Amino acid sequence: MSESARALTVNGRTYAWPRRPLVVVCVDGCEPDYLTRAVAAGAMPWLGPARARGTDRLADCVIPSFTNPNNLSIVTGAPPAVHGICGNYFWDADAGVEVMMNDPKYLRAESILAAFSRAGAAVGVVTAKDKLRRLLGEGLRLGAEGSAVCFSSERAAETTGAEHGLDGAAAWLGRPVPSVYSAELSEFVFAAGVKLMETRRPDLLYLSTTDYVQHKHAPGTRDANAFYQMMDGYLARLDALGATVALTADHGMNGKTDAAGRPQVIYLQDLLDGWIGAARARVILPITDPYVVHHGALGSFATVHLPGGADVAGCMGRIAAIAGMEVVLDRDEACRRFELPKDRMGDVVAVSRRDWVIGTSEARHDLSGLDAPLRSHGGISEQRVPLIVSRPAPALPADARLRNFDIYDVALNHAA
Ligand code: ZN
Ligand code: ZN
Repeated sequence: MSESARALTVNGRTYAWPRRPLVVVCVDGCEPDYLTRAVAAGAMPWLGPARARGTDRLADCVIPSFTNPNNLSIVTGAPPAVHGICGNYFWDADAGVEVMMNDPKYLRAESILAAFSRAGAAVGVVTAKDKLRRLLGEGLRLGAEGSAVCFSSERAAETTGAEHGLDGAAAWLGRPVPSVYSAELSEFVFAAGVKLMETRRPDLLYLSTTDYVQHKHAPGTRDANAFYQMMDGYLARLDALGATVALTADHGMNGKTDAAGRPQVIYLQDLLDGWIGAARARVILPITDPYVVHHGALGSFATVHLPGGADVAGCMGRIAAIAGMEVVLDRDEACRRFELPKDRMGDVVAVSRRDWVIGTSEARHDLSGLDAPLRSHGGISEQRVPLIVSRPAPALPADARLRNFDIYDVALNHAA
């Protein structure tokens, strides 16, 4: 069968069969300036020239600019309105519980990776944190079903052929499992990616890192440049193995402090409690997950569930008047503008400015683990991300607004 005949349509978009292995890297929290500064410092000797000869664009990520909604958008080629994953949590008003959305049962669309795996392509996925592994691996032909591999660095010591497509990934790689709060957790992802390319040569390989370094270190700093230098070496090896290397990010990253380095936090639950009574409104922060040490569960996006009969417009007006707030929208407008699933959002969506974050109640945020000035994401101010492919895409319109979830389209359909 010819390659064009094997093109697949996934979520309404058609993708050409890969002519050579394609590695898509989602660099967590990769504000474009990290790359610019690291290249300028001489820390990325592969990426600098690769950008010049390949495709070098900026793209917009999904809002909320958080990890899971964007990783799922990248692998499905679609916004959260289609795949359903709009954060780490949503409030199930019928059941009266906060529901964690890292179970594949909340996923409403098939991934490009799953569709190609089902069609016989060899697929590999390596993610830093295990919270993403089952979502990204949903639908892959793993174990007895096929040749796919999907595991996290975090749980690499416990992988099995049946569940992950690879027994004992850490021993296979010859590396110890790093701390979940470390740059090494991401290095493990790259090292595993290179070894998979050397040994199994997947048609599609998806690598997703963690933003531990980006939460602590600004672009151009020594630690940030060291991280990107490490990454550059692995990207060079993947390129040398004949793969197309495509890179984007789930979101950017900004400092969320005042001039003195103190966090600028809007404690929205406390304010709402004062306005309409204790615990009558419910503020949901979709950044909240089991790993909060490096950002204190503070990001620039919140959704608010109001009690029945509440004055939604009146509340929106009061929230919009808070210092540090950027945009306040009702559910319909927020879901239209940000392409979000209506049934998983509150009555109101609030997005804070570039240097502010939104919290629930002050008492519920432990900032004692922050050993560096707060840096975080979630807002429109973190929407700009790189979109880089190691091969040119001359037919790609120069003025087209690209999304990070266009990367499979650009790499498979446009890049030479
Ligand atoms: Zn992220
Ligand atoms: Zn983060």
